[in-house]
Amino acid sequence: MNKETHEIFTKFLKSENHRITPERFEVLDFALEKEGHFAADELFVDMKSQNSNISRATVYNTLELLAKCGLLVKRNFGDGKTSYESNYEKKAHDHLICTNCGEIIEFSDPEIQKIVERVCREHGFIPAGYSFNIFGKCKNEHKCDISKNRKNK
Ligand SMILES: [Zn+2]
Ligand SMILES: [Zn+2]
Repeated sequence: MNKETHEIFTKFLKSENHRITPERFEVLDFALEKEGHFAADELFVDMKSQNSNISRATVYNTLELLAKCGLLVKRNFGDGKTSYESNYEKKAHDHLICTNCGEIIEFSDPEIQKIVERVCREHGFIPAGYSFNIFGKCKNEHKCDISKNRKNK
């Protein structure tokens, strides 16, 4: 566990009048240890497999709170599902999403951040987040063989 993240989350829960429960911090620790992007259900299964008594509802609620508090960031990769990833001490980044094999590639380009800032300034808009996804096909020939994986459309 990381003391600083616990302090950030405690402060947030207090300021929003949420109850401070050990289960919420259990979810926090598991979520920040996850590599990359994950769905709420994946985290729930992980926690269960490590003998946690956590309920599915607590995992879902707490992930929402962690996203609101900024320790996690919520993503939507166009598949209708919500993914989360750690936002703690992590550089802002965006994603290339392979619609054929599901591969997600992260990249970071300061130009995008500049555009977001400029557009918001022009519109007098206060940003709370943005999303920039590029959909297409990746270059991984083994994993991403289009003839094998293509769904009939
Ligand atoms: Zn990411
Ligand atoms: Zn691919």
